Amino acid sequence: MTTIVPTGAARLLQGGPIAAEIRVAVAEDVATFAARHGRPPGLAVVIIGRDAPSAVYLEQILRGCAKVGIEARFAELEGEATEAAVVERIQQLNGDPTVDGVIVQMPLPHSIRLRSVIDAIDPAKDIDGIHPLNAGLLRLGYDGFLPATAHAAVEILRRSEIEIAGKDAVVIGRSAVVGMPAAFLLVKEDATVTVCHSRTTDLAAHVSKADIVVVAAGRPGLVTGSMLKAGAVVVDVGINVVDGHLVGDVDFETAREVAGAITPVPGGVGPLTNALLLTHLVRAAQRQHPTGSNP
Ligand code: NAD
Repeated sequence: MTTIVPTGAARLLQGGPIAAEIRVAVAEDVATFAARHGRPPGLAVVIIGRDAPSAVYLEQILRGCAKVGIEARFAELEGEATEAAVVERIQQLNGDPTVDGVIVQMPLPHSIRLRSVIDAIDPAKDIDGIHPLNAGLLRLGYDGFLPATAHAAVEILRRSEIEIAGKDAVVIGRSAVVGMPAAFLLVKEDATVTVCHSRTTDLAAHVSKADIVVVAAGRPGLVTGSMLKAGAVVVDVGINVVDGHLVGDVDFETAREVAGAITPVPGGVGPLTNALLLTHLVRAAQRQHPTGSNP
């Protein structure tokens, strides 16, 4: 067992100021694109039924777009829409030259298969990196569109000047949208990465050896201070509502006594995720409409 020497209060890695910096740069890129092409970059958010839990998050994305001059709109389908209707709507958006990026509200209703939806998105417009082509590019270390949350989990380390190369990292969670892409990104940054998940037998043993811990499990209080190596850097991706409060997957109060640096929830990875999604959209617009081409 590692002896844990409390380091006192950890450095807080706040996403808000980094996100604000990113948004300033995005707004400039949006203005340049609009001047060249006669329209701002456009985002379509496919939303199936207004009462889904992610609707609030999607409204936030729309507001974030409006702030930087991106034209964003909901492409709404009713809650009972068939898989074929959803796929057809996505194909229409793929063919719309004023739509540069498409994201789809998750989770999908049970009657609609995820695979059919992700396959339908044009990889060039897949700004949240869910299409198999973009997932494959990430796996191979090439430049595609990254899932914004995984991107944010690693970008917050980079922008906070935390050394990643050569470090032992543990990612908790192996989902296709967060855990696995975060693990691949950390490998790309030259970390030595262990992926833990719901069937990992001794989570604490893995976590206690890690210099960097990225937690994306959706389980409040999963990681506590007593599990951490002194000085570890903790990135809490989890978003949970407990007693009406937003909390992460890390027991913040105990973890901050041991960690060297930690992202708060809210205010850590979340704001950065939204800002990075905007950068992906602008990049999609620029790639599809290089300077000199028609709108
Ligand atoms: P998911 O449910 O698809 O995957 C959860 C993963 O955690 C699984 O791989 C599972 O094996 C693992 N896991 C569950 N219980 C575990 C345990 N006890 N020990 C070890 N591993 C365990 O969830 P997801 O979509 O990957 O999201 C993960 C978390 O990130 C959720 O809290 C979600 O709300 C949050 N999230 C945050 C953002 C953001 O912007 N910050 C964006 C998307 C998701």
